[in-house]
Amino acid sequence: MEKKTMELTCIRCPMGCALRVELADGEVTSVSGNTCRRGEDYAKTEAVHPVRTVTSTVRVKNGARPVVAVKTVPDVPKDKIFDVMADIRALRAEAPVHIGDVLLRHIAGTDADHVATAELEKV
Ligand code: SF4
Repeated sequence: MEKKTMELTCIRCPMGCALRVELADGEVTSVSGNTCRRGEDYAKTEAVHPVRTVTSTVRVKNGARPVVAVKTVPDVPKDKIFDVMADIRALRAEAPVHIGDVLLRHIAGTDADHVATAELEKV
């Protein structure tokens, strides 16, 4: 059995609790140092399959502003972030854009979509 220990800092809130994760054969066996359940959930995911929400802006044609804010829904694997950013740079949306609009599905080959987080009127 291969055992491993990881030291992490929880990023779920500003307290930044220091977490200790014990793994055996790639499975989490214990989490300590967390002050709440969110920290335990974060540690379990981060140790085995780290994911992140990617927030950015996408260029928009014919809009009142040249870009609109977007985020990935759901989170994407951490090792896909550069691929996600490349897709964002290549993307051009068309105004109007509404909050919740899906601007690109399965970004970078993941299960995540790019979803608008702001309104943008057409001019
Ligand atoms: S364990 Fe809970 S209290 Fe500590 S940083 Fe994470 S979310 Fe915040």
